[in-house]
Amino acid sequence: MSGRLFLIAALVATAGCAGGDRTAAPSAADARAFLDRVNAAMLKLGVAQSQASWVAETFITDDTEAINARVTQEYSDAVAKFAKESVRFDKVDVPADERRQLNLLKLSLVMATPSDPKDAEELTKIAARLEAAYGKGKWCPDPSKPDACRNIDDITKLLATSRDEKAIRAAWEGWHTISPPMRKDYERFVELSNKGAKELGFADTGAMWRAKYDMPPDDFTKELDRLWAQVQPLYLKLHAYVRMKLHDKYGDVVPPAGPIPAHLLGNIWAQDWSNVYPLVAPANSDAGYSLTDILKQRHTTALDMVRTGEHFYTSLGFAPLPKTFWERSLFVRPRDRDVVCHASAWDIDLVSDVRIKMCIDQTAEDFSTIHHELGHNFYQRAYNQQPVLFRDSANDGFHEAIGDTIALSVTPEYLVRIGLLSKAPDASRDIGLLMTRALEKIAFLPFGLLIDQWRWQVFSGQVPPSAYNKAWWDLRLKYQGIAPPSARGEEFFDPGAKYHVPDNTPYTRYFLAAILQFQFHRALAKAAGCTGPLHRCSIYESKAAGERLNKMLSMGLSRPWPEALEALTGSKQMDATAILDYFAPLSAWLDQQLAGRKVGW
Ligand SMILES: [Zn+2]
Repeated sequence: MSGRLFLIAALVATAGCAGGDRTAAPSAADARAFLDRVNAAMLKLGVAQSQASWVAETFITDDTEAINARVTQEYSDAVAKFAKESVRFDKVDVPADERRQLNLLKLSLVMATPSDPKDAEELTKIAARLEAAYGKGKWCPDPSKPDACRNIDDITKLLATSRDEKAIRAAWEGWHTISPPMRKDYERFVELSNKGAKELGFADTGAMWRAKYDMPPDDFTKELDRLWAQVQPLYLKLHAYVRMKLHDKYGDVVPPAGPIPAHLLGNIWAQDWSNVYPLVAPANSDAGYSLTDILKQRHTTALDMVRTGEHFYTSLGFAPLPKTFWERSLFVRPRDRDVVCHASAWDIDLVSDVRIKMCIDQTAEDFSTIHHELGHNFYQRAYNQQPVLFRDSANDGFHEAIGDTIALSVTPEYLVRIGLLSKAPDASRDIGLLMTRALEKIAFLPFGLLIDQWRWQVFSGQVPPSAYNKAWWDLRLKYQGIAPPSARGEEFFDPGAKYHVPDNTPYTRYFLAAILQFQFHRALAKAAGCTGPLHRCSIYESKAAGERLNKMLSMGLSRPWPEALEALTGSKQMDATAILDYFAPLSAWLDQQLAGRKVGW
């Protein structure tokens, strides 16, 4: 569900000193001319890159793949060149917003390749190999029968639906056979990417990632700890309750007072527990309706679903999506060709040519995903007046949070107002509604945090290669209270079985988005005048909430994120207490269920 973000398109930069042979010191006017050139070039190359990429993903052929690779390389090389060149202006006195643009150029890199061409080539090759190894990853229970191999889709489905502990365990272990071959490459990847980051002036690659958050890297780490401390007590209760129910179902495989086995939570990474809802559902408190069933009964088309999503945003005062959105987006899986169906939002010309690419099914999940993707599009259009380097979200967590914030307003009352539901369930159904949300949102929090905790320790050298797997499971135990179903020594490389590790995509943004969306929702609900329980508030049709939202969105990346946060919430500080407010009824209910039982592991 990631948005198609201009600056964070997995950029590769070649580090190194620039301008060594220049004699005259550059002036402020030189810096301005440089930024004008960069903004113009990035707009031109960025549009070409987005177009090539769009075609490659909506019409997969060898040729579109080759064209896309070529244009993407051109774009990445240009950004890398500009990032190097920007060092020339480090000591020039320039206006604050120009300084910010110069800094952002350096920070737009996810991986910095070292200046030594041999190292650079090796790193680029390793990165591509790791990504391909994940993409091709399959579990083959019987190597003599290649047709029986299972890909990630098969395994995801099995874990979501099966309640056969042995079968689930085999699938879990099976999927984790894809990553041991990545281990050597990953070790070298860490060495080389750190070398590049150091050349750019960062302590290591992890420090380079943390430098993107408008505060010293160590302060940012502390900030994450603070947010986690706010929500941890609620997570512990949810964990203890789910553990109790899974113990009832699976017996002693699930220890009544210890960590939960990683394979039994309905998801291969135990990051979303929605699929175990039937095992943990509170009695007599089911929501009483299924949006999926309603959409199917009404034969709601994909286009109708997107129109409904758009209508939510226009009800807040945003202008309707342009005609080109409807002409150029991809809403259903084409019959005649291969496409990448993974949902995404695009901003092709960085002005108004926004689109989504999805293969929509008539499900509640896709209904929610549409709102998520459109959030990216409305954000993109709101900041289109900014300089090109500022056409992005306040930090990477913000972009992911917007659509989810709107999806929190898809309440039963909202469904009644748009005529999809005849009557909203009464308050006696709240626990069911909240449990559904908690299994997705609360269960995710420690996972969203620990992926980069592991990587930061690996990049900094605190965790040596000889302890990669041990450190991984130590963190999963510490944060998630999860243990592997069988012993996992250093012959395994379990972090590699999660896409974002071999793909080298930073992950903290998803933790931030999970926190921010509730903080945004609480502030907007207040602006909308909602006085009921937070989880029943919808900002639908509130122009006041829309105005507040737009104030933040239109800032783009032009100001440090605390200021953008303040524009919407009135506070410069991220605050996870909105999550506690939202789930307060569930929290009280969990206390009753757990009376006298151990919480924690
Ligand atoms: Zn997204």
